[in-house]
Amino acid sequence: MLSAQNLTKQYGFFTALHPLDLTVNPGDIYCLLGANGAGKTTTINLFLGFIAPTSGKVFINGLDVQENLIQTKKFIAYIPENLMLYPTLTGLENLRYFSELAGKKYNLSQLSAFLEEAGLQTEAFHKRVRTYSKGMRQKVGIAIALAKDARALLLDEPTSGLDPQASNEFSALLLQMKQKGMATLMATHDLFHA
Ligand code: ATP
Repeated sequence: MLSAQNLTKQYGFFTALHPLDLTVNPGDIYCLLGANGAGKTTTINLFLGFIAPTSGKVFINGLDVQENLIQTKKFIAYIPENLMLYPTLTGLENLRYFSELAGKKYNLSQLSAFLEEAGLQTEAFHKRVRTYSKGMRQKVGIAIALAKDARALLLDEPTSGLDPQASNEFSALLLQMKQKGMATLMATHDLFHA
C-alpha cells in the first residue's frame, strides 16, 4: 500500500534522508522511531507529496506519488501532531465537509456512525470543535479516514500531548483500523505505544 524505494531527500547540501526503503502492507502498523531531526516528518511529507524526493520514489497503492499527486491523496488520510479542523464548525460538520471534499456524501446517521466508530462521545457531535480536546480532534480525524474510505493512514506524532488514557484509546483505534486492513505509517517518539 505504501512503499519507498531508494528514497533520499536533501535540503541544499544537507542530507535529511539517506536511501530509505520501506514497505507498509495492508494491515501493517509501521512505526518510524528516531531522534529529533532523524527524517521522520520528511518521510511522511514525501508520501503526502508535500515535498519532492531528491532521488528515489514513493508509491501509494502502486502509484508514483510525484506523477499522481491528486490521485494518490484519495487513498490516504493524514493526521499530523495538531489536526487542523474548522474550529467554528461542529465535529459532525467538519466530518461532513471533509467527506464531501473527498467526494463522499453521507446522511446524518451515516456521519454519526463514523464518529461513533472513532470513539467520539455522542454529546460532542454537535459541539464546536474549538471546545474539543486534542484526543477528541484526533477521533474526528479517524472518522474522516473512515468516511473517506482511506486505505492508508499517515500519522505524524499523533499521540504527543495526549494523556495516557487518550493515548491508549488512540492505539486501540489503530488496532481496530488494522483489522480492517488499513496500512498505517506513524512517526512517533512514543516507544511504549509503538
Ligand atoms: P522531530 O522528531 O524533531 O520531529 P524528524 O525526524 O521529523 O524530527 P525532520 O523534520 O524530517 O525530522 O527533519 C530532518 C532534518 O531535515 C532535520 O535536520 C531538519 O532540520 C532538516 N530539515 C527539515 N525540513 C527542512 C527544510 N525545509 N529546509 C532545511 N532543512 C530541513
